[in-house]
Amino acid sequence: MMDTLKKWVEESKNIVFFGGAGVSTESGIPDFRGVDGLYRQKYAWPPEEILSIGFFIKNPEEYYRFYRDKILITNVDPNPAHFKLAQWEKEGKLRAVVTQNIDGLHQKAGSKRVYELHGSIHRNYCMKCGKFYTAEQLMEMEGVPTCTCGGVIKPDVVHYGEALDQGVMRMAMEAISSADMLIVGGTSLVVYPAAGMIDLYRGKRLVLINKSATPRDDLADLIIRDPIGQVLSQL
Ligand code: ZN
Repeated sequence: MMDTLKKWVEESKNIVFFGGAGVSTESGIPDFRGVDGLYRQKYAWPPEEILSIGFFIKNPEEYYRFYRDKILITNVDPNPAHFKLAQWEKEGKLRAVVTQNIDGLHQKAGSKRVYELHGSIHRNYCMKCGKFYTAEQLMEMEGVPTCTCGGVIKPDVVHYGEALDQGVMRMAMEAISSADMLIVGGTSLVVYPAAGMIDLYRGKRLVLINKSATPRDDLADLIIRDPIGQVLSQL
């Protein structure tokens, strides 16, 4: 299987990579959906509820307590998967990275064309005047971060109950539909509408790299059941 993957990568000039949470967990970013006993002691609501737009508006204090604890993570480094994709882009092999992650690790590794379907923790805007703040600036503030104008600062991430950015979606769909090879990695392909985007691929080289089976395995031309960083570092 690795031989096939190697050959396809060598022959391809227009690869698109579509990645999910598994790409980030290999950098040490925990899955925020993990709800254990410790979580229940700390939070009275499930993660999906706290990360909804309605909750943010109603209870920004609790939202930011969770957000600072589980989401706003910047002291991590890209892993071999991020670096390999950045290298392919430089070599003119890779057209774009489409990601469900919001941690900015692809850019940190050097990737330029990154379509972040769910936004980024590195962009934050005042809800009143629109002023921009970095993740680092947010970390220096306590509790609910507020702008110099007094407005509440909101992370530019797609919350539950919010629509995906149409412009980002369009560019991602365009890239996927014209790719000569689509590598899908570190995602269980259950979060829609993002997961449905792989249906747009029209080629014969759809590679699925994931530790466990996905509901879309029947679509794949090649399936590899290993961690994404480990697989890409061998190429
Ligand atoms: Zn402001």
